[in-house]
Amino acid sequence: MDNEKRLLDAAAFAARNHSGQKRKGKDGEPYINHPLEVANLLISVGAVDDINILTAALLHDTVEDTATTQSELESRFGTAVADIVMEVTDDKLLPKHQRKRLQVEHAPHLSPGAKLVKLADKISNITDILERPPSDWDDQRRREYVEWGISVVAGLRGINPALEEHFDQIAKRAEMEICGLAEE
Ligand code: ZN
Repeated sequence: MDNEKRLLDAAAFAARNHSGQKRKGKDGEPYINHPLEVANLLISVGAVDDINILTAALLHDTVEDTATTQSELESRFGTAVADIVMEVTDDKLLPKHQRKRLQVEHAPHLSPGAKLVKLADKISNITDILERPPSDWDDQRRREYVEWGISVVAGLRGINPALEEHFDQIAKRAEMEICGLAEE
């Protein structure tokens, strides 16, 4: 019962802190749908049952995209959860191209929990790019995102075959539909 309570508390905390934010897709879905999907992928596809990893999945974008701080997460959800969130948090003081390059470089060195969250995050984001693309993104930008996602995930492999297989299917669909590789 304690675990259910912790998960719902994290979901409510993330929902409150992301309130007013929307996903980039043209449907304008509430942002909280994304961390919920990441946690759901870990449970349903990856069969992950580690409470700290699932809690971190719900909170994974709070430090990067809201006013939430690391110490706030530590005191409310514990150091193990806060550590995973911080591992998947980009340094927003760096220029975007550098943050993207660092994600590729850091991926192989992440803890197992952070690798799982990042893998599910990339599945969720590429699914969105495929099914609910932002209206101001052209094919070139979608293509670049998919290719970058594939190179980040290359550094996360060997952690959860079911999630990796799921990612490969989404990436393959994206390559066919956006990158036009099926036209040959
Ligand atoms: Zn995310």
